[in-house]
Amino acid sequence: MKTRHALTAILTALLLAILPHAGLRAQQGEVPHAPPRGDEGEGPFQRLIIRGATMVDGTGAPPVGPVDIVIEGSRIVEVRSVGAPNVPIREARRPQGATRELDAHGMYVLPGFVDVHAHTGGVAQGTPAEYVYKLWLGSGVTTIRDPGSGNGIDWTLQERDRSAKNEIVAPHIYVYAFVGTGWDGGPVTTPEKARAYVRWAADKGVDGFKLIPGTYPVSNDPKVFAAVIDEARKLHLGTMSHLSQQGVSRINALDAARMGLGSMEHYYGLPEALFDDRTVQDFPYDYNYNNEYDRFGQAGRLWKQAAKPGSERWNAVMDEMLDLGFTIDPTMTIYEASRDVMRARRAEWHDIYTLPSLWQFYQPSRESHGSYWYHWTTQDEIEWKQDFKLWMTFLNEYKNRGGRVTTGSDSGFIYKLYGFGYIRELELLQEAGFHPLEVVRAATLNGAELLAEQQGKEPDFGIVEGGKRADLVITEYNPIEDFKVLYGTGTLRLNDQTGQVERVGGVRYTIKDGIVFDARELLDDVARIVSDAKVKAGMSADAPVTVLKGR
Ligand SMILES: [Zn+2]
Repeated sequence: MKTRHALTAILTALLLAILPHAGLRAQQGEVPHAPPRGDEGEGPFQRLIIRGATMVDGTGAPPVGPVDIVIEGSRIVEVRSVGAPNVPIREARRPQGATRELDAHGMYVLPGFVDVHAHTGGVAQGTPAEYVYKLWLGSGVTTIRDPGSGNGIDWTLQERDRSAKNEIVAPHIYVYAFVGTGWDGGPVTTPEKARAYVRWAADKGVDGFKLIPGTYPVSNDPKVFAAVIDEARKLHLGTMSHLSQQGVSRINALDAARMGLGSMEHYYGLPEALFDDRTVQDFPYDYNYNNEYDRFGQAGRLWKQAAKPGSERWNAVMDEMLDLGFTIDPTMTIYEASRDVMRARRAEWHDIYTLPSLWQFYQPSRESHGSYWYHWTTQDEIEWKQDFKLWMTFLNEYKNRGGRVTTGSDSGFIYKLYGFGYIRELELLQEAGFHPLEVVRAATLNGAELLAEQQGKEPDFGIVEGGKRADLVITEYNPIEDFKVLYGTGTLRLNDQTGQVERVGGVRYTIKDGIVFDARELLDDVARIVSDAKVKAGMSADAPVTVLKGR
């Protein structure tokens, strides 16, 4: 494996030297583009048959197996049930004619995961695209939406198109432009400018837009917000919004839903829509939004200021959002450090998979976004624990009453690592009351529907079914019984045969467009990128990143 990678690296370097356009080079101060795929991943195959797996199809249907899954090129053509558990499979009833077989007896197969809130790292985090992509794919994420495309609209479009052609090792990418960025038309402060921006970005080929009303360069004028959504919808482009404290007094989640917003991100704007005895949150009089401790500390005291579960206001808001078909993308994982900072900071994957530069970015700082740990108290965590309970109550009820809840991670901030943070979101949805099968649906079909519908399309991914894109996750342990088996670092289990505690699990294979990636190899590559960076930073290759001092 090492030799193969070394060879790939040499060949890639040679190729880049001979053909400067064979790979995209990073501009000054730009996140490096992913290197060409080379020989990574196998396939697509003329006729790949995955044999004998237990399938979780992503629709909410229970596990079923053994099944054989036939994939031709990048498409699933057939899923066939081939027997019953614990008895031999009768070969005669199995699909034939494989040009390649993958033995998945005893394994589980799920649709590839969709992370609808996935930033592709950034200059501040010092995260090359290859690092982020392999953490995603190594965790089973085969489709992402980049909210705002912070590495640049052109950069992200290039990566999307290269990924679509499988020229790089990366999930499918949806490019959402941060309204007002990338053009020379200036801040977006009028409906006319909003429409002009949408058309400008649409011409470039983006898939949608992210709005943070009240955050430069977009104003918090509801007319501007409505114009972006209206223009985007006309062009069959998506919209997503973080309804921040700087805009929420004018546009809360219900206002946004009424204007036709595609999805609300995080939770901001939702408690505000539920206010029944105030119109702004109970800001301390010395509050300053640019003080990240004020911002996150007070955000954790928000839900208790909203109407109570089951109250008239609670029901009225939920009813109307349900009628409007509104989508909620909670990204609970990114707030988790707020209720337990040590858990997030000491997560066992950091030492192997977190880049020193990313670790540095996470350290308490008044300037790094989300690094508000310069004063985080017992009471702050207690407030957040209580805040989470009310938030989860809303999400679970919304789901139970037919509302769409999706899965996004927002990793790259607040001690959350790409891929790993996403798996944690699955656990948090279960904690909110979702059945694990409902969690998987939120992670797959719901995300696919959200992304496709806004572009006026039927989703052709997100479930395991004939005709759908061959994006799949294969695991050796049952993720419905325990989502922890999906973590790249696995989980601990007692082996009763040997009496030893073993570390088991991790995604085994991630399949994208019919191309089979060994998920362990992907994460080995990430570990190598990290150890190389440590050596460069003057650390030893296997030094735990967590011993780094704060700045
Ligand atoms: Zn975000």
